[in-house]
Amino acid sequence: MTEDSTPPDHDVVIVGSGFAGLGMAIELKRGGREDFVILEKADEVGGTWRENTYPGCACDVQSHVYSFSFEPNPGWSRMFPLQHELLAYLRRCADKYGVRPHIRFGTEFSGAEYDDARRLWQVRTGDGSVLTCRALVLGMGPLHKPNIPDIPGLSDFEGPLFHSAEWDHGVELDGKRVGVIGTGASAIQFVPRIAPRAARLSLFQRTPPWILPKPDRAVSSLERRLFERLPLTQRAYRTSIYWRLESRFVAFEHPRLMRVAERLARLNMRRHIKDPELRRALTPSYTMGCKRTLISNDYYPALARPNVDVVTTGIQEVRADRVVTRDGAEHPVDAIVLGTGFHVTDAMERLPLTGRGGLKIQDAWADGIEAYLGTTVTGFPNLFLVLGPNTGLGHNSMVFMVEAQTRYIVGCLDLIDRRGGRALEVEDTAQRAFNDRLQGSLDGEVWSKGNCASWYLDSEGVNRAAWPGWTWQFWLRTRRPRPEHYKVMG
Ligand code: NAP
Repeated sequence: MTEDSTPPDHDVVIVGSGFAGLGMAIELKRGGREDFVILEKADEVGGTWRENTYPGCACDVQSHVYSFSFEPNPGWSRMFPLQHELLAYLRRCADKYGVRPHIRFGTEFSGAEYDDARRLWQVRTGDGSVLTCRALVLGMGPLHKPNIPDIPGLSDFEGPLFHSAEWDHGVELDGKRVGVIGTGASAIQFVPRIAPRAARLSLFQRTPPWILPKPDRAVSSLERRLFERLPLTQRAYRTSIYWRLESRFVAFEHPRLMRVAERLARLNMRRHIKDPELRRALTPSYTMGCKRTLISNDYYPALARPNVDVVTTGIQEVRADRVVTRDGAEHPVDAIVLGTGFHVTDAMERLPLTGRGGLKIQDAWADGIEAYLGTTVTGFPNLFLVLGPNTGLGHNSMVFMVEAQTRYIVGCLDLIDRRGGRALEVEDTAQRAFNDRLQGSLDGEVWSKGNCASWYLDSEGVNRAAWPGWTWQFWLRTRRPRPEHYKVMG
């Protein structure tokens, strides 16, 4: 191998400027590392909270924990943050921590190849240019490629049609007959907003979600003043919410315990839905938690409206101005909104990455996507994934996982420096043992035992998305990299 010591353009390239990318950038700066650039395809930071602007868009995790631990926001207006508040929060973080000058807006990541000889990554961008860096951090988020369902005739629909993550605000839905396909986390937030305005709303449901009441309320001005003047009170509040959420994991590990929460959800439905036929249609047949458990106070009341139909017969086809269901019924619609979710495991499978010795990530992942601690991948030196495989949660805040991972990544860079090396790669044995144990734990948990199909599972039915443990266990394991699990290369 020939040695070429030309320095790379940047020490670190980060892709994405949502919670993951910004969190990474801030952690680098806190560690005194300033030589990095962020590639951001859009013209603003914010990731998912910039992209998703559908009516009613909010987070279903409490504001005080769905934020960086080092940057509490005493000003949250509600217990659960609204999309625009989260976006404003991320913008403030980018400014306050001096991240903005590092961001190349309007620059899309289009792939990367590892240069073995120079031990650096060559990162390609949408405009055809190439950047070199020592370490590459992917923080694109697991839920960013809209899933457009493969329904016959969908492209022949003549009215407006858009996905919830690409909401077309130019389309007037007032007084229109609107068809909504999907009943996941996004749909249950926008359906209550458009139902009162539409002439008719036909909701095409394939699988009903479990829905619990949302313990939301405005944060009083007194509380806000208290949090501002005595930051310790907000920290204590955050800690109490964290442990409350964390305790729910016991039911993910022991799915039988979900029955208690299922009873609560049924009671909640009974309160709002008086029609027993509709209640039957809305009652899930799988164990709660198998798909993401949703929270809402206005979804069921919206479905009880006289102008809303819940259609549970599967869709056969879409025609120019209607949706036809398998029972032959025709549902005329003027517009269709897709609340059909995202490509998750299959989006990762398509990552355009070539590692050491020309190894394509698709070949490395021929048996399924996996990483070590959701972060590093054998054969891909100095590649770091934030919110990579098996880091997803059903019970707590993803921002906690982002912080654990970004601190771990800086720990990896420190390890390389301490050893006087240029790159680090996780040992195959470490990655293997980690994933064997992880899949073993997942076997008994609700995602496998709950009798449902979900985006946590890949096409083989293997859970590639969820972290199978308590989040504090992830935190403990990512406190610092264990040198015996890595080879450091000079
Ligand atoms: P989702 O939860 O994956 O829901 C997609 C919905 O579309 C499901 O009801 C699914 O039915 C249906 N669907 C998909 N393909 C279909 C087809 N071909 N025909 C008919 N129905 C189809 O997607 P999402 O609501 O966008 O949420 C995705 C994830 O984003 C969530 O799980 C959550 O992690 C995150 N999210 C979070 C928040 C938050 O507040 N934190 C808000 C929104 C989203 P099946 O169930 O039968 O597959």
